[in-house]
Amino acid sequence: MKGKKWEKQDLEDMARLLRKDVLEMIMNVSDGHPGAAYSSADIITALYFGGILTVDPERPDWEDRDRFVLSKGHACPLLYAALMRKGFIPEEERFTLRKINSRLQGHPDMAKTPGIDATTGPLGNGLAMAVGMAWALKQQKKDSRVFVLTGDGELQEGVVWEALQAAAKYRLNNLVIIVDNNRRQSGGLIDEVSGIMSLREKFQAFRLETKEIDGHDFDDILGGLDWAVACNGPALLIAHTVKGKGIDFMEEDNSWHKRVPTAEEYASGLAQLGGAVL
Ligand SMILES: [Mg+2]
Repeated sequence: MKGKKWEKQDLEDMARLLRKDVLEMIMNVSDGHPGAAYSSADIITALYFGGILTVDPERPDWEDRDRFVLSKGHACPLLYAALMRKGFIPEEERFTLRKINSRLQGHPDMAKTPGIDATTGPLGNGLAMAVGMAWALKQQKKDSRVFVLTGDGELQEGVVWEALQAAAKYRLNNLVIIVDNNRRQSGGLIDEVSGIMSLREKFQAFRLETKEIDGHDFDDILGGLDWAVACNGPALLIAHTVKGKGIDFMEEDNSWHKRVPTAEEYASGLAQLGGAVL
């Protein structure tokens, strides 16, 4: 079932709503990773609401669906919000985030949560799982595509580069890799922690079709995804993003990698996202 194709303004409104959902969820449980969720918010919104992913909330395990792997699993409150607004998860579950026995844990669990295609958290492994899924779908002669969103910090993991070699070897034209290139990781700026310079040249050396996009502009994101889907081999989008995008005091402040707002920050954040304090 193809999702409804929304206009740019609709997508911007949805992305703002998902960011608001995440702020409320993290505030409620006093735990979580807002910075990482917000840098990927527009990309995930485009995937689920921009007519890219073929999925069916009524049949989360439908075998002909497209797959989505959130390799940067700690950003999952944003994915949970998208699945909630898409109809996979009841809205009333939102405040069970990170609670014991909840289906909405601090990292995604495919055994528990409808709409989650891969259990992720150990960084780097989501991309390897996506490569395996894409290869298996091709073996089964399925038309389903696999989309994976990886952080840029996790590109420091060696398994990423093994997976990319396999993607190129098997010419996985059903695989779209998106790098959330916010230039930061939990320890600070990537270039200061352990630089992974010249990303584009590295990916091209691995025989990946590579394109750079603005990860907060829906025209650019959707144009890039359409291009990637049409590529005759594994395609990769380097999405330039801002950690904490959407709330001014979180943007480019790495302390928001994992932090809970004060009451004043919460009220300010909600106001910026167009919501009222609950
Ligand atoms: Mg990052």
